[in-house]
Amino acid sequence: MAHPLYIVLLGPPGAGKGTQARRLSERLGLAHVSTGDLFRKHLREQTRLGQLAQSYMNKGELVPDSVTIAMVQERLQEPDTVKGVIFDGFPRTVAQAEALDDLLAQLGGRVNLAVLIQVPEEVLVERLSGRRTCRAQGHIFHVKYNPPKVPGKCDFDGSELYQREDDKPETVRRRIQVYWEQTGPVVDYYRARGLLVEVDGAQDMDTVTQALLDVVTAREDDEV
Ligand code: ADP
Ligand code: ADP
Repeated sequence: MAHPLYIVLLGPPGAGKGTQARRLSERLGLAHVSTGDLFRKHLREQTRLGQLAQSYMNKGELVPDSVTIAMVQERLQEPDTVKGVIFDGFPRTVAQAEALDDLLAQLGGRVNLAVLIQVPEEVLVERLSGRRTCRAQGHIFHVKYNPPKVPGKCDFDGSELYQREDDKPETVRRRIQVYWEQTGPVVDYYRARGLLVEVDGAQDMDTVTQALLDVVTAREDDEV
């Protein structure tokens, strides 16, 4: 493949972006860039950036654009991104979407596809309240829909599974509200540029993965 492929996954918290981004990155050989995972890594390591992000994350608010964009810019210097990237949880504001266009232009690329994973609101809350995340590498499970083989332990690396502080009900509601206010316009941004495709995220995980792979293949064929 001559050109790098840059794909943006959009959808409210709990839509399945992280789950699907990990699968797609493995199938397509693209880097998985999750700003939520990057912030959580900084938090674990207690870096300055982590300390700054923490107060926003705990309230379910967005971390300021300048900080987020600088972090993504740095991530795009890493060699694993040369074949392309699946962005998960970024961009979340129109300013971030504009900054991403600039960053990719500097690399000789552009956003090739944005996919909105659609899930009804009541499903989101149930998914988030049952989500369990792996301490070591952020692998994602669900107590009911995707349980680990051994309760409380990650299937992949054996590390502890925990419930994210921001997956508690109060913060979840705020995050969903922030999503529609700030990220809703990002959906329109990509729609206006003819880059947006919608996928039904309320189906089982494998069906959603296949639908996403089909969308990516169709877009690659279009661009040949
Ligand atoms: P996001 O990154 O969009 O917030 P996640 O990928 O973390 O979403 O998924 C949220 C929760 O829902 C996780 O616990 C995950 O295991 C579960 N989940 C993801 N996709 C599905 C699906 N298609 N059906 C049922 N549960 C799902
Ligand atoms: P989810 O997909 O479940 O909403 P994420 O892991 O993507 O959760 O994000 C968790 C938190 O990290 C967000 O609520 C926000 O505070 C912060 N965050 C992640 N990505 C961004 C971003 N692109 N811009 C600003 N804040 C972000």
